[in-house]
Amino acid sequence: VTQSAVERWRAVLGDQGVDTTEATLARIARATFRSQRRVTAVLRPHTIEQVMACLQIASACAAPVYPVSRGRNWGFGSRVPAADGCAVLDLGALDAITAFDETLGYVQLQPGVTFEQLHRYLRARNSRWFLAAIGGPPDGSVIGNSLERGDAAGPNADRLASLCALDVVLPTGERVRTGFGRHGAAELRHLSNRAAGPQLDGLFTQSNLGVVVGATVWLTERPGQLLLFTGEIGAHLPGFFDAFRSLVAQGVVAPMATSVWHPCKLALRDGQVPPAARPAATGEPWLFSGALYAASRDIALAQRDHIAAALAPHVGSIAFLGEEDDAEFAEIAGTFLGVPSADNVATMYWPKGRPAPQTLDPDGDGCGLQWVCVTVPFRGEIAARALIMAEAVMTRAGFLPVIALDVTTSRCLQIFIALYYDADDEEADRRACRCHDDLLDAFARQGVYPYRLGIQSMGRLGSPDEPLAGLVRRLKTAVDPGGVLAPGRYDFGSATTRRGR
Ligand SMILES: Cc1cc2nc3c(=O)[nH]c(=O)nc-3n(C[C@H](O)[C@H](O)[C@H](O)COP(=O)(O)OP(=O)(O)OC[C@H]3O[C@@H](n4cnc5c(N)ncnc54)[C@H](O)[C@@H]3O)c2cc1C
Repeated sequence: VTQSAVERWRAVLGDQGVDTTEATLARIARATFRSQRRVTAVLRPHTIEQVMACLQIASACAAPVYPVSRGRNWGFGSRVPAADGCAVLDLGALDAITAFDETLGYVQLQPGVTFEQLHRYLRARNSRWFLAAIGGPPDGSVIGNSLERGDAAGPNADRLASLCALDVVLPTGERVRTGFGRHGAAELRHLSNRAAGPQLDGLFTQSNLGVVVGATVWLTERPGQLLLFTGEIGAHLPGFFDAFRSLVAQGVVAPMATSVWHPCKLALRDGQVPPAARPAATGEPWLFSGALYAASRDIALAQRDHIAAALAPHVGSIAFLGEEDDAEFAEIAGTFLGVPSADNVATMYWPKGRPAPQTLDPDGDGCGLQWVCVTVPFRGEIAARALIMAEAVMTRAGFLPVIALDVTTSRCLQIFIALYYDADDEEADRRACRCHDDLLDAFARQGVYPYRLGIQSMGRLGSPDEPLAGLVRRLKTAVDPGGVLAPGRYDFGSATTRRGR
């Protein structure tokens, strides 16, 4: 980055807002896997006007910047840019909740607002609304997660579908609002993402076309009755999936409200596994768990009976939990009612052979994690084959098969796999990278492809020669002629950014 860009950023943000100290740059360049990236500065704006000025300077000085909202993108690259030589634009200080409506159930947020912050905000108002939470860091950003199209548990967990009125600063420093926001429609902009004309919200997710400085997020009304279900899948995995598909298509179970787990994954979360010592779990039944959201107890009980009958031939066991099952119910119910929890993040510490500290810093503490996230057709045979293949590849490479699957819609499923290891062990890191690549190759051979990538896998987006890659590049050139915003992030990359971390 040029000295003149740093000086001009300092003039806008003050000395406090521009950090170029070696210690900070080294810290910020750490992910949950080894990375060679060089970061040039950390910029910390406090206002939208400062964000606009930072981008104008970036464009004028050809100095690339990489925005992060909270930078907890653990397992995908954390805060580390997708290309070398970027200044990290840390939006964490823009953390205001700028609108909330209890009647229609929406909030307008700045990018620094965390899941925990929003949860507390709603609880303090005794709101009947909640935001479907991720299984990841409570101090992750709602907007950062939405822009990655992250996944959560519960109704309206499709982040992109529940987002509108994006307030975006373009790489040139101009500001645009999507949807009804462009009319300044005070109320309507929060309520619909279907204003006349092209629907552009998706363009700013998994892309590098703009910095989102605000958005409206739709909430979910708490159900009159929540019931949970858990069980073991029977010997014939495909039969379970084929039976379950119809439950989603018929609206008996909501999308994103059911997961299938390798037994290792669940045991790890419950702190039961001495994982390093655990052999491959082949042969143990896969588990499932989910939630029923219903307007009343009667409706929930009717749904329960329908599910029990439909799944009976395909499960080893199934149990339903309601409020009367107090302790166990309360523990799991929070997951499905938007209560953030750090329990999953704490599991990243097991390869270190010590308990998780009070303040979780997996990047700094050398906790190795890489995700592999793929979408699979909702066909029993194909889903089962993908899971069994993943288990075999991971155990062969010496990794605990931490594999889970979400029932995304009635047409497709998402498999998310975590490779856990000690990132301070160079050999383990190399092995994890190889296994990560092997999994993606093996999935591709089965016609199964990623729905989310990390900086370690951006090259997997596709060939730069594809027609779609050409269109993405033309869009990028139109809004970012200098190529200064997040080069290498979901852009079908140049030869230099396509590979390497
Ligand atoms: C144990 C564990 C469990 C996890 N479980 C889940 C899970 O259930 N679901 C899930 O989705 N993830 C999960 N994660 C992954 C990850 O931690 C979360 O997705 C987290 O929300 C991402 O970090 P963040 O919210 O701070 O976003 P950030 O890191 O701030 O943003 C992510 C990326 O989006 C882009 N970006 C961010 N903000 C902006 C902006 N304002 N404008 C333009 N671009 C921007 C940047 O490229 C950035 O790198 C898990 C991680 C761990 C370790």
